[in-house]
Amino acid sequence: MSSKKIEHIHAHEMLDSRGNPTVHVSVMLKNGVIGSASVPSGASTGIHEALELRDHDEKRYGGKGVLKAVDNVNTKIFKALVGMDVTKQRQIDAIMIDLDRTVNKSRLGANAILGVSLACAHAGAIASKLPLYAYLRKTYELPQKTYRLPVPTMNILNGGAHAGWAVDFQEFMIVPVQKKFRDRYRCGSEIFHVLGKLLETAGHSTLKGDEGGYAVAFKKNEEALKMLMLAIKKAGYKPGKDVFLAIDPAVSEFYDEATQTYLLKTDGKTLTREQMIEMWETFAKTYPILSIEDGLEQDDWDGWVELTKRLGKKLTLIGDDFFVTNPQRLQKGIEMKAANGILIKLNQIGTLSETIDAILLAQQNKYKVSVSHRSGETCDTTIADLAVAVNADFIKSGSLSRSERLVKYNRLLEIEEELA
Ligand code: PGA
Ligand code: ZN
Repeated sequence: MSSKKIEHIHAHEMLDSRGNPTVHVSVMLKNGVIGSASVPSGASTGIHEALELRDHDEKRYGGKGVLKAVDNVNTKIFKALVGMDVTKQRQIDAIMIDLDRTVNKSRLGANAILGVSLACAHAGAIASKLPLYAYLRKTYELPQKTYRLPVPTMNILNGGAHAGWAVDFQEFMIVPVQKKFRDRYRCGSEIFHVLGKLLETAGHSTLKGDEGGYAVAFKKNEEALKMLMLAIKKAGYKPGKDVFLAIDPAVSEFYDEATQTYLLKTDGKTLTREQMIEMWETFAKTYPILSIEDGLEQDDWDGWVELTKRLGKKLTLIGDDFFVTNPQRLQKGIEMKAANGILIKLNQIGTLSETIDAILLAQQNKYKVSVSHRSGETCDTTIADLAVAVNADFIKSGSLSRSERLVKYNRLLEIEEELA
């Protein structure tokens, strides 16, 4: 057991998929095993997320450096964890939470804490000679007995903050539901390429947004849905049978607090809460939509209750900025019957253990679970293993292009083969 003790922890600054600094952490054990992880970064972040610590030194990376977070890992966190058994993941995370002593991890930085939390899990898995998904299941004594791979929700049309506001809504996703993950993956890729050709023929741009989907300045938000339907059919698949749609409009990004309305620039409309709900109802009637994420503003609890009443039987209503992977916010949502699904982003809460707690709470209350990347990503594949460990319903890792997106889907292919 002593060989699994933490001997050294080292963090450094690296760049993410948008070319912004982020934290990479390696944890070395007494037995020589090294586990590493890197931390993603959002653009349309929720206001209740844990704090991503940046240097704000304008002379470096436009203020986006993460040397403070790196230093917190290399000094304070290292001192607190050296000599610990790396497999005691809950204890490790609790020590870091205690060391930080803020509600939003603003002292040490959620990026610093999460980097260590994940690197410890990787080191623990290697030392235990288990694939990460199996190690997580064992470490957290998860109740599931069999494995089920997640259904991918693939963001092949990018808008909002991820695509220079080509359209208002941030993500238009296809959701292939074939039995095997490899068939879902292939289906997604085929539709993505057909979509590219259709866009080209229609005279649209085929440049891509942050998550590798096409960034098209449609005249109306709804045109994106029509285009997806066309691409699905043209690729030889049946919408509503082989493939469904999902939307993440990320509405908090275009919500106007002062007037309590949503400003849809693409559609030239300003909508109230009630009109937004009506729009989602119309979309849900017209298209084979499986889920809508952040369909209302992040603090409109009463609106979410109403939205869930009206659409919850038909759709998965996923809280992203609304829940921020926070068990406390989720608990409130459960009590109020707001939403029926949760997006899981490790860096919104900042430790693996709290993330697992959010997932367990969701599953105990029959909320659907979608494990997600961020718009700023690295080639870290932890979320693929996490999704498999907890039998997540969905995984969201962007489009069918760009390695930092595909590396997660590719890891799922590998896991599927391993489990077969
Ligand atoms: P973000 O976007 O990573 O920029 O927050 C992803 C999402 O809203 O789901
Ligand atoms: Zn979202």
